[in-house]
Amino acid sequence: MDSLWNDEDAAKFSGPLGERVYSSRLLGRDPALVLHGGGNTSVKIVEKNLFGEDETVLYVKGSGWDLDSIEAEGFAPVRLEPVRRLATLEHLTDLQMADALRMNTLRGSAPAPSVEAILHAVLPYTYVDHTHADAVISITNSPDGERRIREIYGDDVVVVPYVMPGFRLARQVALQFPQEAHEGTIGLILMQHGVFSFGDTARESYERMIALVDRAEQYLKRQGAWEIVVDEVTDAPGRIGVTLAELRQRVSRVAGAPVILMQHDDPLSRAFARRPDVASLSQRGPATPDHIIRTKQKPLVGRDVDAFAEDYRAYFEAHKDMVAGPLTMLDPAPRVILDPELGMVTVGRTARDARIGADLYAHTIEIILRAEALGGWQALPPRDLFEMEYWDLEQAKLRR
Ligand SMILES: [Zn+2]
Repeated sequence: MDSLWNDEDAAKFSGPLGERVYSSRLLGRDPALVLHGGGNTSVKIVEKNLFGEDETVLYVKGSGWDLDSIEAEGFAPVRLEPVRRLATLEHLTDLQMADALRMNTLRGSAPAPSVEAILHAVLPYTYVDHTHADAVISITNSPDGERRIREIYGDDVVVVPYVMPGFRLARQVALQFPQEAHEGTIGLILMQHGVFSFGDTARESYERMIALVDRAEQYLKRQGAWEIVVDEVTDAPGRIGVTLAELRQRVSRVAGAPVILMQHDDPLSRAFARRPDVASLSQRGPATPDHIIRTKQKPLVGRDVDAFAEDYRAYFEAHKDMVAGPLTMLDPAPRVILDPELGMVTVGRTARDARIGADLYAHTIEIILRAEALGGWQALPPRDLFEMEYWDLEQAKLRR
């Protein structure tokens, strides 16, 4: 992976927030780093408050913005000190966290700060960058993932075990980082989740991200796990109009609303849908917990929509008591369908949703195949996936 930094382009952006915008867009340009609203970035800037006093403000990516097209107003300005202090609490619900972030936001029209705002506040660096880099996830989600990560990065990063994103992850880092970080620390590897890098300048933080991900890519190459061999599928994908229409009707019925089905005929997803081991590989879970809202915890293999919905209800029943509060079950319809004849079909309430599901799953296939080449793709256990799928903030949206 190469740095896309260009001094001439960077010069068009002024001030620390301008540079933050520029390097965030560079991250957003590479789908092997972040996809569709994934990842987040921040910068800490000392500003005068209304009383003329210096105060450090954390400008952190706001929800609803994509890194590749972010503007200065896509960053929420929050007061650093009170937000950093939240990480010292024993417990904080997601709704309390959202309220506390909102209360400390300095501009009424700002977007809601990223759920990782507290983690950005805790890291003692001016610029902080976070991605879900494919190459790193292939390694963290393989057998012996942590040993491999330590072999690749040595002492240059702090390795953080998987914990639920949001407050708990911020608290984990607030406890672990001061113990393990030193002068030479340039990032964090979050097991089963992604990477953080940081630095004094936008360029330093960005280029450390690229360097960290490049080391993961080089490792995969050395292990013979980088090149993906796609079995040639010579016949055209089954475009059986009636089959797709019927499938759409069945998925819509289970979803409780009309949905769009999108069929994809790229060689990789078609070959994946035909693999004899597709049922095993695809049922272990998503690449990063972030994806679950868009792809569900696993795809439907074949066309039995009712069996998928039954299975989803069982997953909901088995885990619903581990999350506090009355839960509303999400619709049990699949979002990704892998069928040997139809190839990959994605499902969405809108064409855009179906497209996003396809982009996420196309990267998931690459991540799975590379982890498989390292000895076996491993995903988070269902309970961690459930927690992510049913966290307060998402449920609050449903209750509204
Ligand atoms: Zn993340």
